[in-house]
Amino acid sequence: MYFEIDSKVRDDKGLCLLRNETHRFAEEVMRPAAKKLDRMPDPEQVIAKGSPYWNVLKEMKAMGYHRLFFHKDYGGLGLSAIEAHIILEELGWGSVGLATAIGVDQVPAGVASLFALGDVIDNLVIPWAEDTEAKFHGCWGVTEPECGSDYIMATQESFLPYVRQLHPGQVKADNSGDGWVINGPKANWLSSAPAATHAGLHVTLPPHDSLANGAFCIVPLEQKGVTKGKPIDKLGLRDDPQGDLVFDNVYIPDDYMIIRPPFYELRVGQILCLTSCFVGTIFTGLARAAFEEALEYSKNRTQGGKPICEHQSIKHKLYAMFEKVESSRYYTRKVMEHVWEKIYIEGTFDASSMHALSAQIYGKRSAFEVAHEAVQIFGGYGLTRDFLVEKLFRDARAGLIEDGTTEVLGLSAAYNIIQEYC
Ligand SMILES: Cc1cc2nc3c(=O)[nH]c(=O)nc-3n(C[C@H](O)[C@H](O)[C@H](O)COP(=O)(O)OP(=O)(O)OC[C@H]3O[C@@H](n4cnc5c(N)ncnc54)[C@H](O)[C@@H]3O)c2cc1C
Repeated sequence: MYFEIDSKVRDDKGLCLLRNETHRFAEEVMRPAAKKLDRMPDPEQVIAKGSPYWNVLKEMKAMGYHRLFFHKDYGGLGLSAIEAHIILEELGWGSVGLATAIGVDQVPAGVASLFALGDVIDNLVIPWAEDTEAKFHGCWGVTEPECGSDYIMATQESFLPYVRQLHPGQVKADNSGDGWVINGPKANWLSSAPAATHAGLHVTLPPHDSLANGAFCIVPLEQKGVTKGKPIDKLGLRDDPQGDLVFDNVYIPDDYMIIRPPFYELRVGQILCLTSCFVGTIFTGLARAAFEEALEYSKNRTQGGKPICEHQSIKHKLYAMFEKVESSRYYTRKVMEHVWEKIYIEGTFDASSMHALSAQIYGKRSAFEVAHEAVQIFGGYGLTRDFLVEKLFRDARAGLIEDGTTEVLGLSAAYNIIQEYC
């Protein structure tokens, strides 16, 4: 177990208990399930009836992890940023794939808990928060076949002039009187979509000529006209299935259109601040997992007449890995405290995107660098499926693309930095 530098945390028995309890869950429930899911040759097995995916999802819901990001007045747990951060680091330590599944699960109803008005709160958000049987399962539909990174770039308010140079978006919503009709394809990268009951979906509104007319809605996926693709076969995050969604004249009621112009860029930018903290933190957990595996192995593997941890070059690697894990924890935690304050406490929704995006990038990059060195410390064994570091390395590699490539997230942050840094 790692040492907590933050004395407030170290002295607070409640937080230590929270961390220990979540760690136990990650070790005893998530890790064994993630290992089984990762090794399934056919990705469809991951979401088949009786698969460990469903058991873990139910157990995560029973623990309340599916409503960490809900507003406290509408089913949220009302945790502090540090409490949420401690939980997320442990979940990422257990499996970033399953942590991603519980992250995207909260997008439809969690976003509604922050911005929705009307019946959707009572009819969907509260039942979702109270669900412990995984009757509800969410996914987040941003990426489209023709509009990948462009969608990430479009979600920053300050880019409005630039947004018109981007792809105009493929999934469109049109007013049908009492509701909306949705048409178009989302890419096969949507995490948990093959298993989901609802999507938190990004669409464009008329005249559909630009992502500047973006909107966010909830779509129940059992609606007529929805086609769910099969889970794709891929490197990394094999314990969380990705697949496409296609919409053909799919109807949703008016109150399911949660965010509309002129609030889209501002509000979605703030959602990205939350998701960036989430992703940066779960990948910090992965970095710690890889570091701990490598440290333990280096004490037990003998070469050159002594445990390899006694060789100078391995010591240098272990130190650099430790430094990355610790700095990633404290940076992502500090940024999460800021974002939490602006969204859940002050309610001003003016969290700093440049910091949130950099926390995500830092966490993901640290995870990849630490996992890469962990494989090196294991030598040939690090490439075999017998050791956890092989999975951690694949998952960390996928992380450099998940939720936006690190390059495009950096580009997006740079626009903010150039315009707003003072
Ligand atoms: C494991 C995993 C889980 C995912 N989960 C989800 C999900 O739940 N929901 C969802 O909507 N999406 C999800 N995605 C999709 C992910 O957000 C996209 O893959 C990502 O945003 C990149 O889009 P793309 O794959 O279309 O690549 P492209 O946008 O085609 O990019 C290709 C390359 O070009 C570079 N590039 C693109 N634009 C620029 C630019 N303007 N300047 C410089 N370089 C540029 C990129 O960095 C990249 O290297 C997931 C992806 C992965 C790998």
